[in-house]
Amino acid sequence: MKLTLLGTGCPSVDFKRCGSSNLISTKSTKILVDCGSGVTQRLNQSKNSSADIDALLLTHLHTDHVIDLYQLIISSWHSDRTSQWKIYGPKGTKKFVDKIFLAWKSERKLRISYEKRKSSKALNYKVYEFKNEGYININDIKVKYFEVDHKPVPYAYGFSFFSKNKKLTISGDTRPCESLMINAQNADVLLHEVFIEYEINQISGLRSKKTLHNVKEYHTPSNLVGKVAKLSNCKKLVLTHFVPTRFNISKLKKIVRKDFGKDPIIGNDLLTINI
Ligand SMILES: [Zn+2]
Ligand SMILES: [Zn+2]
Repeated sequence: MKLTLLGTGCPSVDFKRCGSSNLISTKSTKILVDCGSGVTQRLNQSKNSSADIDALLLTHLHTDHVIDLYQLIISSWHSDRTSQWKIYGPKGTKKFVDKIFLAWKSERKLRISYEKRKSSKALNYKVYEFKNEGYININDIKVKYFEVDHKPVPYAYGFSFFSKNKKLTISGDTRPCESLMINAQNADVLLHEVFIEYEINQISGLRSKKTLHNVKEYHTPSNLVGKVAKLSNCKKLVLTHFVPTRFNISKLKKIVRKDFGKDPIIGNDLLTINI
């Protein structure tokens, strides 16, 4: 199994770190997790095509994880995709996708009739909404989805991927929570979000003390992510979803190493990890 980090950023714009997205693949399967800003450009850079994605899994419906959903689907149509999309996401995903498609309905109709492409199946989709937790089989990859704690976001999920006795767990966006630590037990790789609290300052009129407190509150700060990884007993910790996107790398590694006992891998867009 292979993990390709497509976007390791957050809502702030940074050309080095796109919006949240990850590709999990084997020889026969490609699963995309989230489709933040820049996902199609990163797929292209990593020599993957949106035409070949077997399933799209959404952790939650925050913009930095889903803003390029329509671009992803249109680009797959233009890349000769001939099968409908399978989209898995939290409660509300069906309504969310339907509304996006409704907004573009007349533009899409016009394009289909004018461009005369051989198939428009790529523009069809089926949405499956998650329960509290459960399993999905996508070809040779087994996926467990489980709720994490990103309140006040009503539904947010983490995922574990299983293939050939290997396990990859993705935290999604979450504050430290038991469910993540239980589900990440003994993972070969834990891909985890991090909020680097000491790198982000109050800016008058832009970020109040309350803003910073509240954003930190529903993420996992750098002084806790190593503890989460230690308790989950994962073999490798890969950090992603950096808030802010620019920071002192050795300082972050040092803080996390103190709790985890090992250096974390600092994720970068297009980094590939074999699991
Ligand atoms: Zn996010
Ligand atoms: Zn979020």
